[in-house]
Amino acid sequence: MSQFWSDQVRQLRPYVPGEQLNADQLIKLNTNENPYGPSPKALAAIRDAADERLRLYPSYDALALRQAIAELHQLSPEHVFVGNGSDEVLAHIFSGLFLRGGRPLLLPDISYSFYYTYCQYYQVPAEVVPLDEDFTLRVADYTQTREQPPAGIIFANPNAPTSLLLELDQIQQILRANPDTVVVVDEAYIDFGGKSASCLVAEHPNLVVVQTVSKSYALAGLRVGFALAQPELIQGLERIKDSFNSYPLDRLALAGATAAIQDQAYLHECIQKILESRIRLTEALSRLGFKVLPSSTNFVFATHPEHDAAQLQQALRAQNILIRHFSQPRIQDYLRITVGTPEQCDQLIQALTALLNP
Ligand SMILES: *Cc1c(COP(=O)(O)O)cnc(C)c1O
Repeated sequence: MSQFWSDQVRQLRPYVPGEQLNADQLIKLNTNENPYGPSPKALAAIRDAADERLRLYPSYDALALRQAIAELHQLSPEHVFVGNGSDEVLAHIFSGLFLRGGRPLLLPDISYSFYYTYCQYYQVPAEVVPLDEDFTLRVADYTQTREQPPAGIIFANPNAPTSLLLELDQIQQILRANPDTVVVVDEAYIDFGGKSASCLVAEHPNLVVVQTVSKSYALAGLRVGFALAQPELIQGLERIKDSFNSYPLDRLALAGATAAIQDQAYLHECIQKILESRIRLTEALSRLGFKVLPSSTNFVFATHPEHDAAQLQQALRAQNILIRHFSQPRIQDYLRITVGTPEQCDQLIQALTALLNP
């Protein structure tokens, strides 16, 4: 605490990311990175972009990248906003769309913790809606008529850390019941098991879909995320961007992300391998007595009736295996485990077997 800190800095409770240790031989299953690495075409594009042109500012409107994203989702570039990771895109959504006359933002009690951090940072009044007992989102909680419509609704689909998927028709019910409310669907994990709500953008002026290249495209280090919505909504986000940092994506990121998105064959190859690993990991954990929620993501959310989750996480950490535990009400008995390569999953299962049967 410094005397020079602003009043705002004193009050912040920053997001706490999963550990990024640099030990050799680390089995890193704690931040949902993709073990297979980015598309070779993306790496080649980044290398090709690393030349003397770096003295120039990057593209101001990121048109080539927005074009590639638009093509993939059968929209036009006017429907696409890009940012420095989807975290930045989400930040601009919070300040650009959720601050409306003190109306609340509805969000689940168990979700991506950056939402609560941004509520505090941007002073967005939050109305936290508990998920059902089994961690499913109750659509009815979001479709009741209220005295004052909420300014926004945000949830991750599939949700993190629960890994559970909401079907598109349920999202559509929420969109229809809330015509005066922006509904943001954070699809960081959608490529691992669901159909994107991007096909609803043309029909619903209150929908924003957010995606990232950090997880399925294995480019967490590049920092590229994007939002899909109708053009007027996108223009609002652009106003925020141009009041904050008008070049959020550098030349290397633009080149790499564009090439990655154009290489759908590589994406689907990786996803296939991860889905196979997910089945094996789920079966192995179940054999050890874990209850594993049905995952639509590249991680599983699991609990053991006889073993303390925090202790298991610590014991694994001592063996250089990182997984995630959240000391948070309702989920403190759960572990979130990223689906790694088959070898990484085997090593995790071996270590857990030894811990559970000493
Ligand atoms: C990982 C993640 C993000 C952040 O992605 P970046 O693009 O790396 O900033 C956003 N939302 C959810 C739910 C995530 O799990």
